[in-house]
Amino acid sequence: MKPTIALVGRPNVGKSTLFNRLTKSRDALVHDIPGLTRDRHYGHGLVGEKPYLVVDTGGFEPVVDEGIMFEMARQTLQAVDEADCIVFIVDGRNGITPQDKIIANRLRQSTCPVWVAVNKVEGMNASVVCADFFELGLGHPVAISASHGEGVRLLFNEILEDF
Ligand code: GDP
Ligand code: MG
Repeated sequence: MKPTIALVGRPNVGKSTLFNRLTKSRDALVHDIPGLTRDRHYGHGLVGEKPYLVVDTGGFEPVVDEGIMFEMARQTLQAVDEADCIVFIVDGRNGITPQDKIIANRLRQSTCPVWVAVNKVEGMNASVVCADFFELGLGHPVAISASHGEGVRLLFNEILEDF
């Protein structure tokens, strides 16, 4: 079965950058799924010989400030609902924010497997940065750089092992 992997996280952590990296260099965008909504993008990804569907959430930007917490929670739940696995992206240059905590709370209540990807860590000490994000209570964080490509293949290899 081809798993669906959803990218979730607050605005600006690098979801779309990662989505673009995973789906680039091939005709990867999906336009023909029934019920496709405008606040999510779907694309075909491939690790080795294993195909998967990747979902970029976060089409809620730009949005008024007081709505964003609600929107993030809603979109996170929606992603969990339709995905086989979640990649929860956080910003390794910022540390944990209140918005990260809201999303983490939602994700801890779900039975969907969750991977915490600490993004933007190029040129940083990955293990030191990742240690900060254990506090989210979602297991061992994995360091990546979506824009430089570091750690991305490793992470998706590991994720796809379970499918
Ligand atoms: P989204 O709102 O979560 O979809 O985040 P975007 O993919 O739009 O990225 C937000 C900003 O972070 C952009 O300016 C990206 O260029 C930058 N960004 C994304 N990934 C990385 C990364 O791995 N390293 C660094 N330094 N910047 C990144
Ligand atoms: Mg985006």
